[in-house]
Amino acid sequence: RNNPNSALYEINNQAGRLYNILLMSTELGARARDYLEERGISTEIIKRFNIGLAPDEEDFIFKNLSQKFEEGVLANSGLFNFSNNRVFDAFKNRIMFPITNEYGHVIGFSGRKWQADDVSKAKYINTSATTIFDKSFELYNLDKAKPVISKSHEVYLMEGFMDVIAAYKAGVFNVVASMGTALTEKHVHRLKQIAKNFVLVYDGDSAGQNAIYKALNLIGEGQTQVAKVPEGLDPDEYAKTYSLESLAALMKNGRIQPIEFLIDFLRPENLSNLQVQLDFIEQMAGQIAKVPSLTAQDAFIRKLVEILPDFEYNQVENAVNLRRENV
Ligand code: ATP
Ligand code: MN
Ligand code: MN
Ligand code: MN
Repeated sequence: RNNPNSALYEINNQAGRLYNILLMSTELGARARDYLEERGISTEIIKRFNIGLAPDEEDFIFKNLSQKFEEGVLANSGLFNFSNNRVFDAFKNRIMFPITNEYGHVIGFSGRKWQADDVSKAKYINTSATTIFDKSFELYNLDKAKPVISKSHEVYLMEGFMDVIAAYKAGVFNVVASMGTALTEKHVHRLKQIAKNFVLVYDGDSAGQNAIYKALNLIGEGQTQVAKVPEGLDPDEYAKTYSLESLAALMKNGRIQPIEFLIDFLRPENLSNLQVQLDFIEQMAGQIAKVPSLTAQDAFIRKLVEILPDFEYNQVENAVNLRRENV
């Protein structure tokens, strides 16, 4: 064999096919499909994203695949756990989302628990790192999204599988997800090869807001916008609460500039204190001075003044002007 990884691609591919068959044609699968249906995932979506079901058995996948692959391949596939001279499937009774590389080859999985009485802790379990699966490099849906990203020069970043699927249903296809791990330099580097603009559509909870803040620093504010999902919802839940059209509208027309996000995110608790206001003005003035358009700077100064009890437009503008001369 030329490529030492080709067997790893093949075993993941075959596992994905088994998972999909189990979802589509077993008793347990029928109930899992009820769960998916309830979450807005139809048979068409199951096909499109190759969703599957890991059976509620210790070693079903191992039994089916162990004869077909060498021991080293089995050991390095990430599909099994080896302990006490026994082999267990890494995934048991979970809805399976295959993770593909940018060429569409299955390289790993994420499995979601779905039964109410499942007491296992993690909502999602991912394949551990293998020679073909590096979470800090891979992005969910990149293979399908890539042509649309290249064409539009724009990429939407989301947190989860269900969010990407909701966007797909809403007709927005240039969407990828970083699968829970924070966005990394590697993710950003590879996306910058194909995209000029980044739109962050993270969850409307504190974890999501912190992730937006980090992503802004990583990508660079100049080429990023934020589509803010209302508090308490993530993009998938937003679509379910309102509509798919509303999600598409939020993603396309509901974007704000990073500064607007930062004014809200960095806004100090105790804004009645004069020194706190001064420090906040200093902090934001540096950001605002970097904005290329003076009209936009003006708008951000107004936003800032709105929340400051003791300062007026001219005072904040002065602070920005001082910074302008220093950039
Ligand atoms: P769902 O809609 O199915 O409840 P979610 O995507 O909204 O899932 P979040 O809790 O918002 O779930 O997490 C965002 C993403 O982070 C998930 O899609 C998944 O990729 C990843 N993730 C969440 N929990 C875990 C975990 N325990 N281990 C590994 N990855 C996780
Ligand atoms: Mn979340
Ligand atoms: Mn979420
Ligand atoms: Mn969700």
